[in-house]
Amino acid sequence: MKILVVNAGSSSLKYQLFDMETGEVLAKGLCERIGIDGKITHKRPGKEDYSKETELKDHKAAIELVLSLLTDPELGVVASADEIGAVGHRFAHGGEIRQSSILDDEKLAYLESIVEINPLHGPPAISGFKGCKAVMPDVVHVGVFDTSYYSSMEEKAFIYPLPYELYEKHKIRRYGFHGTSHRFVCAEACKLIGNKDAKIITCHLGNGSSITATVNGKAVDTSMGFTPNDGVPMGTRCGAIDPTVVPYIMKKEGLTPAEVEKLLNSKSGLLGVSGVSSDCRDIDAAAEAGNRRAALTNEILTHNIKKIIGSYVAEMNGVDALVFTAGIGENNKTLRQNVCRDMSYLGIKIDEEINMNGPRGEILEITAPGASVRTFVIPTNEEYMIALDTLALATK
Ligand code: AMP
Repeated sequence: MKILVVNAGSSSLKYQLFDMETGEVLAKGLCERIGIDGKITHKRPGKEDYSKETELKDHKAAIELVLSLLTDPELGVVASADEIGAVGHRFAHGGEIRQSSILDDEKLAYLESIVEINPLHGPPAISGFKGCKAVMPDVVHVGVFDTSYYSSMEEKAFIYPLPYELYEKHKIRRYGFHGTSHRFVCAEACKLIGNKDAKIITCHLGNGSSITATVNGKAVDTSMGFTPNDGVPMGTRCGAIDPTVVPYIMKKEGLTPAEVEKLLNSKSGLLGVSGVSSDCRDIDAAAEAGNRRAALTNEILTHNIKKIIGSYVAEMNGVDALVFTAGIGENNKTLRQNVCRDMSYLGIKIDEEINMNGPRGEILEITAPGASVRTFVIPTNEEYMIALDTLALATK
């Protein structure tokens, strides 16, 4: 079966068409500036990329264009849209939906009901789904939710120590995000160590970062919370801070709730501390050139990642494998080295030579000889995970 995976953002729509018999990506691309003007970039393996600026008034127009390219006699990869057996949609937030699900009216109504706790990602994901459904009404549409991996967490891990009524009234709890990525790399790590019941810590470190603890294939804890702004400091998000700092900043700086939210989400993290950039590469270059705050930014990031890893080892009473993934986790060797340094007490020790010089873009084991914890770099593949879930539900 061929499966189309769609990831709709506020003004963008990413797509990948998989042939599930071979696992091959037949085509992928990106629609940008939806609702502003519009541009599509369409890629096929071994062929030249195609790019065109064209009006895209909404997500429906974007998916119509995607389908016309996928079936185009020259640029296409299928003879007709009928060859596409199902569509998988990425949802960053599924609230308390426990697993990937067929998107029927009831699920859609639930997703619409939780837009208030997911104002950034919810509306575009819903409008992306509605656009696809209108254009492809006869195939199964499946929702894959970043949050549902965390439905296995116990209450002690997801209830905040706030008045309990706030959970009951407003559903304020730890949800966790990036679950599809953590689920994918964790499953790969379990295969690599030949133990599906292992205790695994997965570090998804990118522009957004989260760390997850998994035992027996079930998430037991994660660093992101009610929103993706918790845990590790990120590109522009602060991650975990003393909550009382927030009203204090509002008072001192005379900020409204929307303004302080912007400060915490868009002006903090690596950008906020370094004053240089939200991108690790720029921060590394500045640190090398002697910028003290850039060097401090890297120290803060390393310190916080270490702290979370240590807390998860304590929580799980051990760890069998540690995994690094996403932009920083897969590419920033120095950060991996600094995070794993001085953790031999926990059994974590990496081979610095392999870590520094091993190949990129593929699975790499960086465990030092004799270390009891296996450490890996595993490229994430959320789209393939979405396609697998979609296939399972479409062929049930
Ligand atoms: P992501 O959100 O997963 O795309 O990750 C973005 C982050 O990954 C940015 O901070 C980048 O600096 C970092 N990153 C991406 N590619 C590289 C690279 N080749 N070397 C170092 N860092 C990288």
